[in-house]
Amino acid sequence: MLPLGRRIGDQRIPENQFAKVRLIPQKGLAEWSANVKTLKMILFKRSADLRLWLLERKKQGLKIGFVPTMGALHEGHIQLIKTCRSLSDICICSIFVNPVQFNNPADFEKYPVSIEKDIEMLEKVGTEVVFLPSVQEIYPQGKNGLETYDLGGLERVLEGRYRPGHFQGVCQVMSRLLGLIQPNDLFMGQKDYQQCLVVQRLIQILQIPVNFHIVPTIREADGLAQSSRNRRLTADQRKNAVAISEALNEIHGKLVSGNAAPVLELARERLEEAHFKTDYISIARASDLQPIENWDGKEKAVALIAAFQGEVRLIDNMLLN
Ligand code: AMP
Repeated sequence: MLPLGRRIGDQRIPENQFAKVRLIPQKGLAEWSANVKTLKMILFKRSADLRLWLLERKKQGLKIGFVPTMGALHEGHIQLIKTCRSLSDICICSIFVNPVQFNNPADFEKYPVSIEKDIEMLEKVGTEVVFLPSVQEIYPQGKNGLETYDLGGLERVLEGRYRPGHFQGVCQVMSRLLGLIQPNDLFMGQKDYQQCLVVQRLIQILQIPVNFHIVPTIREADGLAQSSRNRRLTADQRKNAVAISEALNEIHGKLVSGNAAPVLELARERLEEAHFKTDYISIARASDLQPIENWDGKEKAVALIAAFQGEVRLIDNMLLN
């Protein structure tokens, strides 16, 4: 029997644009079946196919882990997959550049796409399933009339303030993906700290039974947080970009209880020297991202930065205690 998923290299499925990636000789079903045994990863484009496939796996009591991504994968994503694989029987990675979470259409247009390389990386790390839906598949009713969520203060500070509508878009896609996959475990990166808090809140609002894991940020050797956007930096901008993690380290090293403003000022200067245009530098409560002006030295705190290097907007953060 044919598998429900579209295996990479299955040339008989015309809409499978990845047929070209790995060409498997297609002389007959027997031979094809022998070939697919050597392929581990299954690629689904349709929700209905994935749902059916998952139903069978869940009946067998297998634990499903889920890593949502927008592609243009790097070592940060791969770390999420590795963590997912170590805690799950089946790791599902979705690649979907979610149009409704881009408040700036130009940013959406410029979002890097490297699907063939992504698939290679996912296969290499042993991902069991890749889900690659179309926009129509995720938003069959189009983008009008989408639901909104009460995200409280999270939607008004930091990324929420600078990217209006962004977190509603994140929730809209995550509610659909979580509803479809119904994973036991969900893995997201601390790199997007505020996004993690938003998704935690979404999970509470919708009462989704899932274990949520926040995976620490993977960095380049010089400290720059790995990001799909880094590939848009010129060589000079790439050198400057390290100032963000340096500024965070400076805050981490120099923050003492009392007024937080002087240490924020030092960080701001460091960013300016590296030609960053800063959206925000904040020391905030780790639980809800409300700014901390006077730190008591005990409250769990996080430093967060968003700044432009040329046209590329980078974000990073560091837990302070
Ligand atoms: P994205 O494709 O940018 O939507 O990211 C997909 C997931 O990977 C999100 O949960 C991110 O927080 C996470 N992620 C992105 N960059 C890193 C990184 N450098 N280290 C760890 N996780 C990351």
